[in-house]
Amino acid sequence: MTHCLNCGAERGADVCDFCGLNSSEAEFALRKKLLNRTAFFVLGALAFVAASNRYPPLELDGILIFIGLLFFLTLGLAIGLERRALRHLELEALKRVYYGLIPLPWIFAALMLANGAFDRAPPQVEEARVVGKFSMGGALPSRRLVVTSWREGHRIERVPVDRVNFDNFSRGDVVEVKVEDGLVGIPWVVDVFHR
Ligand SMILES: [Zn+2]
Repeated sequence: MTHCLNCGAERGADVCDFCGLNSSEAEFALRKKLLNRTAFFVLGALAFVAASNRYPPLELDGILIFIGLLFFLTLGLAIGLERRALRHLELEALKRVYYGLIPLPWIFAALMLANGAFDRAPPQVEEARVVGKFSMGGALPSRRLVVTSWREGHRIERVPVDRVNFDNFSRGDVVEVKVEDGLVGIPWVVDVFHR
């Protein structure tokens, strides 16, 4: 007994009793669905990057690594599903896992926006010394000021900054970092100033 690739109903014959598609039509329908959901997922990942640029979390690098792993895991799953669909193999369980992953970047993007946009608490100003900086170009440019940390248990902070602030500060500068606690508890950086 296998499951129909289109509707997931158990199927004894080539034509599914439930949705009426034969196995190649069901394969085509499934691959179209996979493509649409993958596109929705990729848009969500872009929305997340936009949200985290708007309200950059202090732990941006760790969060980006997590989102990157999720991104490649999900795309890898999509490729695996596509291959199984082509060979008409059983894929119900894998498909459910995949469908469960699709909305995650949108949820994280909404969380990140809410964390910054609805944060009404007054920002804290923390003093730190710039000990290094690095920037990475490419499609998703990232610039960080590496500063001494004001948090217990942290040695340094990698503060996300825009191009202007990145050029404005050099090693050894003492700076003031304006930080918000975040509505859902993800601290984010408002701005960096010269002391
Ligand atoms: Zn069916």
